[in-house]
Amino acid sequence: MIDESFPPLFILILFAIFWGVVCYYLAKRKGRKKGIGFIFGFILGIIGVIYYLVVEKKKICPFCKERISAEALICLHCRKEIT
Ligand SMILES: [Zn+2]
Repeated sequence: MIDESFPPLFILILFAIFWGVVCYYLAKRKGRKKGIGFIFGFILGIIGVIYYLVVEKKKICPFCKERISAEALICLHCRKEIT
């Protein structure tokens, strides 16, 4: 039986959390900040997912720990060569 007093806001929040988790994993795969990914998905939903699908992949520089392009050969921050 469907309860008509069931708040639709609850469903919206469930969807927001769902997209948040999807973006969390996409951000992780792309080497980006996972917490930011979750917030992105939570607020933007499917738009956040699309963003993380098209966005450039990142990696962490082993020398200075800065986030750089996954294809980078020389770190932009410390100028060290990445092998
Ligand atoms: Zn570096």
